[in-house]
Amino acid sequence: MKMIPYGKQDINDEDVKAVIDILKSDFITMGPTVTRFEKAIAEHCGAKFGVSSNSATSALHIACLALGVGAGDTVWVAAITFAATANCAVYCGAEVDFIDVGLSDYNMDVGVLKQKLEVAKSIGKLPKVVIPVHLAGHSCDMESIHQLSLQYGFKILEDASHAIGGKYQNRPVGSCQYSDITVFSFHPVKIITTAEGGMAVTNNKSLEEQMRLARSHGITSEPDKMVGMPDDEIWNYQQVQLGFNYRLTDLQAALGLSQLERLDDFVKKRNEIAKIYNDAFMRLPVITPGQNDKVYSSFHLYIIRIEGAQGKINQRQLYKILQDSKINCNLHYIPVYRHPYYQAKGFKQNHCLNAETYFKEALSIPMFPTLSEEEQEYVIGTIKNAVT
Ligand SMILES: *Cc1c(COP(=O)(O)O)cnc(C)c1O
Repeated sequence: MKMIPYGKQDINDEDVKAVIDILKSDFITMGPTVTRFEKAIAEHCGAKFGVSSNSATSALHIACLALGVGAGDTVWVAAITFAATANCAVYCGAEVDFIDVGLSDYNMDVGVLKQKLEVAKSIGKLPKVVIPVHLAGHSCDMESIHQLSLQYGFKILEDASHAIGGKYQNRPVGSCQYSDITVFSFHPVKIITTAEGGMAVTNNKSLEEQMRLARSHGITSEPDKMVGMPDDEIWNYQQVQLGFNYRLTDLQAALGLSQLERLDDFVKKRNEIAKIYNDAFMRLPVITPGQNDKVYSSFHLYIIRIEGAQGKINQRQLYKILQDSKINCNLHYIPVYRHPYYQAKGFKQNHCLNAETYFKEALSIPMFPTLSEEEQEYVIGTIKNAVT
């Protein structure tokens, strides 16, 4: 039997054809298809603008730059996330701190955030930007975080790398109703893919323009952005700030557009798989993901927790059993402050207590739209045998 992965992409013949059509066309790097993809993603989200980039990591970077993050600023990030969520602030020369997660949805805990803001206010060190992460595709409590942003004056950048196709209060994640910018990832393990790729969506024209500039070398050809350009100058572009080459290609955008057509089906299938897991684990010593009326999760990941002290086995033992049974699972994620790079910045190993519990108990088990009924039954059976 082949190893069952924890996640994988689903590319069909139409996806392949869409890319081949572009290969035979005039534009293969950033061109009209990228523009179409940006519009389509923005429209899906109900946001005004989409700025694509070659990864979510680069999208997070240009988003931080557009939000004015720089040396002397502090950015707060959820403790349980991929390192890129924190790194984007460090790229800009800012300091990072981590907010503990709740043990129901594993997202940034709003109560902890509020307490920490009170302390930060008293010492004059409020964050410039807070980056909540919709872990596993389950939206954070954005309305409450937005409320706090009004009270304490910080910007909100949603890391929705896991969450395209998900909803919060019946609106698509990415509507930016409660945030300044939302970022998606199109890495192959995520919900839809462009191989590598990302997108920042926003309702703010000025943020959009700044992200576009930063994405392409800081070079503009728009007359109103140029400096002292004589009217008769024919070489009509200028570099007006430092920027990067973070461009997505038309090849990738074509794949993304084709995948976007299938987004609703992907997320529906993921929710069906989640329901089967939820039911199967109900009477077992396995903690299933918390649910919330306001949230429709995209279920990028299905995360279980094994309480080490109570059960027959702990998370690490279960990981080994699954691995030996050819079921690939993983921990998403090691608390970011535990990485040597951040330890060297002075964070203690137990910086966030719930994140520590999560670290010792959580495991992502196979979750992807093409997971077959037999495969899922096998995963469930293997876990059941291991924990009872
Ligand atoms: C995958 C991921 C990223 C980075 O995405 P890339 O497109 O690979 O750069 C950032 N944040 C989170 C939460 C992710 O899961």
